[in-house]
Amino acid sequence: MAISEYDVVVVGGGNAALCAALMANEQGARVVVLERAPEEERGGNSAYAGGTMRIVYHNAEDIYRIVPDLTPEEKANSDFGEYTEAEYLDAMFELTQYRTNPDLAELLVKNSRETVTWLQTKGVRFEPSYGRHAPNVGGKFKFYGGSTLRSAGGGRGLVDGLYAAAKRFGIDVIYNAEARQLLADDDGVHGVRVRINGKTTEIKSSSVVLACGGFEASPEWRSRYLGPGWDLAKVRGTRYNTGDGLKMALDIGAQPCGQWTGCHATEWDLNAPEYGDYAVGDGFNKHSYHYGIIVNTDGNRFVDEGADIRSFTYAKYGKMILTQPGQVAWQVFDSKVTKLLRASEYNSKHSHKVSANTLEELASKLGSEGVNKAQFLKTVNDFNVAVMKDVPFNPSIKDGRGTVGLELPKLNWAQALTEPPFDAYAVTCGITFTFGGLKITTSGEVMDTGNKPLRGLYAAGEMVGGLFYFNYPGGSGLVSGAVFGRIAGGSAALFSKSASLH
Ligand SMILES: Cc1cc2nc3c(=O)[nH]c(=O)nc-3n(C[C@H](O)[C@H](O)[C@H](O)COP(=O)(O)OP(=O)(O)OC[C@H]3O[C@@H](n4cnc5c(N)ncnc54)[C@H](O)[C@@H]3O)c2cc1C
Repeated sequence: MAISEYDVVVVGGGNAALCAALMANEQGARVVVLERAPEEERGGNSAYAGGTMRIVYHNAEDIYRIVPDLTPEEKANSDFGEYTEAEYLDAMFELTQYRTNPDLAELLVKNSRETVTWLQTKGVRFEPSYGRHAPNVGGKFKFYGGSTLRSAGGGRGLVDGLYAAAKRFGIDVIYNAEARQLLADDDGVHGVRVRINGKTTEIKSSSVVLACGGFEASPEWRSRYLGPGWDLAKVRGTRYNTGDGLKMALDIGAQPCGQWTGCHATEWDLNAPEYGDYAVGDGFNKHSYHYGIIVNTDGNRFVDEGADIRSFTYAKYGKMILTQPGQVAWQVFDSKVTKLLRASEYNSKHSHKVSANTLEELASKLGSEGVNKAQFLKTVNDFNVAVMKDVPFNPSIKDGRGTVGLELPKLNWAQALTEPPFDAYAVTCGITFTFGGLKITTSGEVMDTGNKPLRGLYAAGEMVGGLFYFNYPGGSGLVSGAVFGRIAGGSAALFSKSASLH
């Protein structure tokens, strides 16, 4: 077979693409991966990710099987609890306001643990998310909310593990390979037109898997679909996800699906660069906001910081920041909670931080940063007075310690800001990925606008439409990429096999 002819072309070089490639390879297909980025920036958003994996598990034994190298001490100090299919499905339905495609959501949930086990067989290592999703309460890490595991080394560890596996299995990977067009006719898709190191060529194949991300890295597409102001968001991850795969598919009649006006966006350090920084990864996060209050430059709170557990709120709060004056807000904490703040995010030298020994001094410092000083002090004082006194603070559960009498309540983890020093961290909106995608079947085939499969075309990862709307349960992006990547890769390989028999 010539280099320009494969059974399966996989467009993209992140988690979904590599899972598709490895699965197609398992089925005996000759596979090539086309990664737009240069090798040193390979891996898409997956490489910037924290690596959190939301999976179903029933007990500690399930965790021990996926993390076989836990020490007896770690086992003794960890309360893993369980995370059931029902809880995962509830999260998918409730957070998406009952819009998620039930068939896709079910595939995600039911395949979550098995898929992570499969990743393990490919050489990816996992570890419990100590310090991220489990506060240390009385010397024991108590996990809750389903985000119990992460890939060792975060997203970078996951991606490096997958590329190492691709190499071991003889899968061709071409870097600096920007797919630009699908080769298609009335019989379906037959390959891609791609620019490799600046030279355009064609690669023929029986099937194509598109796993080349959403349009989060294009300010033009963001303002076109997400709306005004979204061009001003910072991009948390790769600069290469500019909607190319979506455009290529729509150009040949693929059916758009899901919430094209929706995206995953979080509170992100104001100092962060325009696109993700490979060396810092998700270190620009500011995800402990539920232990303090968030104010805008008018000095007002504008969101319930403690509405729910972090992994059920963080993906929608970026949008709240984007709509504040100057797209800026300040997370404010007192020293009672300093030890609960995620160290990798709040101790980072990149943080835009202001500290003071009194609230008045903090107000003055924030005043010189453009915050309304008098209103800030009033907001803090009103908040402090409103905090419940009779419900104990407990970071390991939704503690119900809220505020009373505020127009905008805080429902959980409310504590008066009284203990100096006081710290304020400036955040803006960081976009992670877009929710709008392509309509696929449960076999990963892309459907056309007439609701018929586009023969030979498959999609996975961020390109799948209809899974996420409005919000997102943390840790389901990587699992979704792996689950639907495997499905798409397996189906593409089967399709190629049957095509070669005709
Ligand atoms: C900072 C950050 C932290 C995150 N943390 C987590 C987490 O802890 N847990 C979690 O579940 N999710 C997390 N996510 C989300 C998660 O990373 C994504 O949902 C997931 O990685 C998407 O995988 P993907 O393979 O679809 O896309 P990507 O990994 O983005 O891969 C897309 C690939 O397509 C390539 N590409 C684009 N255009 C072309 C083209 N024309 N031709 C060829 N290749 C092209 C890109 O270069 C890239 O390699 C995080 C994301 C970010 C940015």
